[in-house]
Amino acid sequence: MAATAVDYELVAGIETHVQLDTRTKMFCACAVRFGAPPNSLTCPVCLGHPGTLPTLNGTAVELGLRAAVALGCTIAPRTKFDRKNYYYPDLPKNYQISQFDLPLATAGAVEIRTKAGPRRIRIHRAHLEEDAGKLIHEDAGTRSFVDLNRAGVPLLEIVTEPDLRSAEEAHAYLSSLKGMLRAAGISNCDMEKGELRCDVNVSIRPRGSDSLGVKTEVKNLNSFRFVQKALEAEYRRHVAEVEAGRPLVQATLLYDPEKNSTRIMRVKEGAVDYRYFPEPDLPPLEISAAEIEAARTSLPEMPAEKAARYVRDFALGDYEANIISSDKATAAFFEAAARAAGKARTVANWVVNEIPRFLNEGNLTLETSKLTPAALVELLGLIDAGIVTVASAKEALAKSAETGRSPAEIVREGGMATVTDSGAIEKSVDAVIAANPKAVADFKGGKDSTIKFLVGQVMKATQGRVKAQAAEELLRRKLSST
Ligand code: ZN
Ligand code: MN
Repeated sequence: MAATAVDYELVAGIETHVQLDTRTKMFCACAVRFGAPPNSLTCPVCLGHPGTLPTLNGTAVELGLRAAVALGCTIAPRTKFDRKNYYYPDLPKNYQISQFDLPLATAGAVEIRTKAGPRRIRIHRAHLEEDAGKLIHEDAGTRSFVDLNRAGVPLLEIVTEPDLRSAEEAHAYLSSLKGMLRAAGISNCDMEKGELRCDVNVSIRPRGSDSLGVKTEVKNLNSFRFVQKALEAEYRRHVAEVEAGRPLVQATLLYDPEKNSTRIMRVKEGAVDYRYFPEPDLPPLEISAAEIEAARTSLPEMPAEKAARYVRDFALGDYEANIISSDKATAAFFEAAARAAGKARTVANWVVNEIPRFLNEGNLTLETSKLTPAALVELLGLIDAGIVTVASAKEALAKSAETGRSPAEIVREGGMATVTDSGAIEKSVDAVIAANPKAVADFKGGKDSTIKFLVGQVMKATQGRVKAQAAEELLRRKLSST
């Protein structure tokens, strides 16, 4: 980007819609299930038939309360639902039941951590609402279909203050939020199923100023990466407009991943355009102190508390502790393995560094793979006993993740055990010396680093089944004596 005379600061906020993990919809008894045949999970209520009445899902309120408590929000003792009126084919009632002026929760915060250190991102509000249906466009946009399975699914909309200053902070915020919501069983936050969707609002200002510039909103971002890219693209657009002396217009935009740019979808409508008014078919919702207390006690250990415990009880570094605690499945795996193996830092190293590498390669996650904590513990035992090298151990564990078989079995059947027979090691070393006269000459000529190459050749020839240290010792001995 061309340097500008002014150093502009990004000022951004995020609105996140998360799908609450309930069995049924917000205002009817229809099941909530992803991937069901279109319009199979509908009834007169969520189809908006005249004369039907909504019935509030108590579990959705409980989960909303639990989220409010987790976010450290102030919970409204009395809240209500409102109709947000607009016309769109995915909205059968022509209004969405949402919350307008009395949201369930206000004034919370999420702690984030980036390279720049810890920061606190304030939550402006969180409110309950129902989802709309889904439009499916086919034949190059000439035909459209409506699937109302999602219409009426319970959502919690979480809105931050404009506290984010970089795309990296936005990513950190969303990771923390997702980790908390998943840990507390509030939402699965599976973005591929649309269970977590983001809108970002963006403005810029000269760094150091505390004024707020004209704000635009980028809608419907369905991955953390797109959130980051959209923030960067919209920041670039704002700077370019301001530098060119063109006034910024308050607008709603879409992010185009192919062009990595944003484009204006419509000039922003204000709240007044939605003609919000209280939902006459639902009574106001009174939240008692006992219900808030119940939400508090239902809250399991949050990722930040977990991380602190890992540092304290397992002597992990901050970095490992934060990575492991941020994901529920990873944390459960780590704790089970660390307890059984009794060496938490080694387990943490495998969980943070080695395991994700082969899971990513196989397009797997801890949850979709067949890897168990017991398999990792068994494998660490094999390494300690000198039965496998670390290189072979990685391979065996990757196979175990695919097949669910025991690492010991995989090592035995695959002939992966470490070669300890000194005669066999010597044979490989001799073969490598004979096959690499140039490297041998270099080493003898004083280029000591060549030994690493020769060790590598021995490892390659033995498929990593010789301990590197043993190979190096023998190589050095042989090369200095001949
Ligand atoms: Zn229904
Ligand atoms: Mn909303």
